[in-house]
Amino acid sequence: MSAIRFSALQETLNRVPLSIKDTGRRSELFAQNVFNKHAMLQHMTKEAYTSVTNAINYGSKIDRKIADQIAVSMKEWALSKGATHYTHWFQPLTGATAEKHDAFFEITKDGNAFEHFDGGQLVQQEPDASSFPNGGIRNTFEARGYTAWDPTSPAFIYGTTLCIPTVFVAYTGEALDNKTPLLRALQAMDDAATDVCKYFDKNVNKVNATLGWEQEYFLIDKALAASRPDIMMTGRTLLGHSSAKGQQLEDHYFGSIPTRIMNFMRDLERESILLGIPVKTRHNEVAPNQFELAPIFEEANLSVDHNSLLMDVMEKVAQRHHFKVLFHEKPFAGINGSGKHNNWSLSTNTGVNLLSPGKTPMKNLQFLTFFVNTIKAVHDYEELIRASIASASNDHRLGANEAPPAIISVFIGSQLSQVLDELENVTKGKLSPKEKTDLKLNIVGKIPEILLDNTDRNRTSPFAFTGNKFELRAVGSWSNCAGPMTILNTIIAKQLKDFKKEVDVLIETKSLKKDEAVFNVLREYIKASKKIRFEGDGYGDAWEKEAHKRGLSNNKTTPEALKAKISKKTIALFEEMRVMNKVEVEARHEIELEEYSKRIQIESRVLGDISRNHVIPTAIQYQNTLIENVKGLKEIFTKDFEKFAKEQIDLIKRISSHISEINSKIEKMTNERKSANKLKGQKNSEAYCNKVKPYFKDIRYHVDKLELLVDDNLWPLTKYRELLFTR
Ligand code: ADP
Ligand code: MG
Repeated sequence: MSAIRFSALQETLNRVPLSIKDTGRRSELFAQNVFNKHAMLQHMTKEAYTSVTNAINYGSKIDRKIADQIAVSMKEWALSKGATHYTHWFQPLTGATAEKHDAFFEITKDGNAFEHFDGGQLVQQEPDASSFPNGGIRNTFEARGYTAWDPTSPAFIYGTTLCIPTVFVAYTGEALDNKTPLLRALQAMDDAATDVCKYFDKNVNKVNATLGWEQEYFLIDKALAASRPDIMMTGRTLLGHSSAKGQQLEDHYFGSIPTRIMNFMRDLERESILLGIPVKTRHNEVAPNQFELAPIFEEANLSVDHNSLLMDVMEKVAQRHHFKVLFHEKPFAGINGSGKHNNWSLSTNTGVNLLSPGKTPMKNLQFLTFFVNTIKAVHDYEELIRASIASASNDHRLGANEAPPAIISVFIGSQLSQVLDELENVTKGKLSPKEKTDLKLNIVGKIPEILLDNTDRNRTSPFAFTGNKFELRAVGSWSNCAGPMTILNTIIAKQLKDFKKEVDVLIETKSLKKDEAVFNVLREYIKASKKIRFEGDGYGDAWEKEAHKRGLSNNKTTPEALKAKISKKTIALFEEMRVMNKVEVEARHEIELEEYSKRIQIESRVLGDISRNHVIPTAIQYQNTLIENVKGLKEIFTKDFEKFAKEQIDLIKRISSHISEINSKIEKMTNERKSANKLKGQKNSEAYCNKVKPYFKDIRYHVDKLELLVDDNLWPLTKYRELLFTR
């Protein structure tokens, strides 16, 4: 083991475990640092409070004078909590969060200092944001974009800064962030779903999409991670022979949480709870040093903000505990990667979960309506869903033996499959009285009972119904949930809008009763969307063949998958639903393609550097020792020299052959990079994907072989067994 690695490990082992006291009840700490409705009630006038709640619930405008009042109460609250600065907190198209802090502090003309914050500063700011990716939306010479307050996500204090969630848009109106399209998609969903709900319950006047994510991650000792340039630069290991022990004993999953990790988790949970992130579940995941954290679900926009914030908090808390948190989807070869399941449902202002079967046939017809429409939407836009989760790092997971393949399908369980099969046979047009009773009592009426036994949860499905919600499992652990949530909500909103139109036509022109019309349309949807339903093993080769026969897409790489984001169909969808215009759609596509190429480019450079500057010199150094040894043996044993030096000479040859393979492959890879750099857009990212990236595996093969040959004392890189089992 090398000196650097040894000192890093030593530092870890010598460290006395931090013991963070888990003080206070969660319920008492919850949202202490959030300017939520409760805090607003304490600090605001009734008029201001009503204005904010109306803005939250119905999107109504907030008058400038009222905004001043709100700002003053927000400032007073923040100062009472020790805040000194405020910031507009937003999500540029880098996928991360951005903030620029301003002090509340001002000075009057005659030199008196005071704390100030007004409605203008709350509502709108103009950050100099010319360096954020914009996909050509803004010319840099007039790099003007502004951030605007999103009252639906409450302000919070992090550290000593009041953070105000905002959208980020160009003065020309185009969205420059991830939040704006999400809010528009959620609005479209609210409109479409509320309209459909009115068939069943006139009291519904708002529908919220809900999201509960499950964040998986790795925790690696900070000093050890810092000794690996690949982890520091790319978030994953590009090299490293697998450890003799990996996850094969299955002794980590749900095992007792190691003390040092537990201290980190407690600290993290405490901070999250103070920030109003309702974290609830924590456990060990399948791979060594892999963990998961999940909250109680929330309204989708808030939940997306909370996930972004959590990822930020995790990195900071990890620092304090001398860990590095890895969000990369596949940080280590040969063991499981990380995902972020997005549990999704719809909830009405009357408190009904629309994907939860009810107690009466009417409630169940409502459930079936949303259930079948969701399946139909996923069927019609499966390729777009695949595109919504595409990234250089998530490509590693898709199709690997642990996670959803690149094929999107829907799992609903045998009982609900049976219900849909029966509904498929409903008579066209008017229903006979017998059929009506039968439907009511035997099919629709039976659902809740059936669901209780529906425990066969298919873990291999990328989009599974799990009793009262759908679970999109293909999302990567590193990604911002806003992307997939914007797409999922938009396609389902569009589907519900079309459904409403079709039902209304049947009621008006064929004079069908409402439920007859609903049954008629659902029947057609069930037939039309059959090919997306799959109950079998989603990881098996048989499914790839079957899916191909069914005509489902199987876009294995990001450059391939992203094409669906700018198809005519997609642009028409986003424009119709008023989520994004063509310019906004194309800008995002351009940014994502570029990001893909850049990530592969960086990985390729880092791989070249480590192999040439760290690995090869070390291999030569060891080879020289062997050569010295052989020379020495020759001096001592003139007679039986061959016999005694055989192994060493063989090693010398093998090392030379690996070195020469590594060198020639790096050479070729570098040339491919040069050719790729001459190309633009789609061609550029395809070149990185198909010409540059394939060398990673080849180079790694030879480096990992050298790792097994070279003296452990000399090897310059911290090994898998040290990274994965130090905790
Ligand atoms: P799993 O068994 O998949 O690990 P859990 O049953 O523990 O998952 O729950 C997963 C997530 O589903 C949690 O984050 C939870 O908040 C979320 N969830 C539960 N109900 C809903 C809902 N109606 N809408 C959105 N998310 C939900
Ligand atoms: Mg899950």
